[in-house]
Amino acid sequence: MDKELRKICGHVKSYIELEKAAGMEEHMSNVPFARQTKNEKTGPAASVLDTLKKELSSCAACDLSKTRKNLVFGSGDAKAKLMFVGEAPGEDEDLQGLPFVGRAGQLLTKIVEAMGLKRGDVYIANILKCRPPNNRPPLPAEILACEENLKRQIDAIRPKVICTLGKFASQTLLRTQTPITGLRGKFMDYNGIKVMPTYHPAYLLRNPSEKKAVWEDMKKVMKELCPDSRKSQ
Ligand code: URA
Repeated sequence: MDKELRKICGHVKSYIELEKAAGMEEHMSNVPFARQTKNEKTGPAASVLDTLKKELSSCAACDLSKTRKNLVFGSGDAKAKLMFVGEAPGEDEDLQGLPFVGRAGQLLTKIVEAMGLKRGDVYIANILKCRPPNNRPPLPAEILACEENLKRQIDAIRPKVICTLGKFASQTLLRTQTPITGLRGKFMDYNGIKVMPTYHPAYLLRNPSEKKAVWEDMKKVMKELCPDSRKSQ
């Protein structure tokens, strides 16, 4: 097991020792650890991502290019073991050019931190790189125009686990029409990478009681990232 994974295992172990059968908010406030890592800003994966980002800066593959303020490429560690994929940028993301920086993004950051990671330890991207006007759902033509970009990001990063957030990300990446309620909580496959579909943080803001379900899904992800964590129990 490499050094980074061993570190994560240590954190997951400490977490499991503290774990109580409670809701996510309680978990979040109890988690005592925060991982410090050098995130990948150079190296082959980072340079592939840099090139793609530059290429996309002038992208006009769909009409969203006419209304976007900024293209939201993605952010995080180019060598992340864990990648999150959301739907599309909202207003805050469009203004800042960064994914998940609004209210839903703040909740996603909390979830990441509850897992013992820092936001910069994971990679965060979206199915669409540009904001749909008034946050309407992505159109099939927009998804089609943008899907190669996400594929290239995933190919560069090759995370161990991808967590798809909500219906659009899950159905698009997994090429299924199954509702998110039927997908969440079960590992699926995307080109040899484990995919864990879960609810979108924006949905959790409207339905806080579902945070517990997401936390159950995240525990499965943590276990997958660190398969030995329960052995010493
Ligand atoms: N919702 C998403 O799906 N992606 C973002 O980047 C922000 C909100």
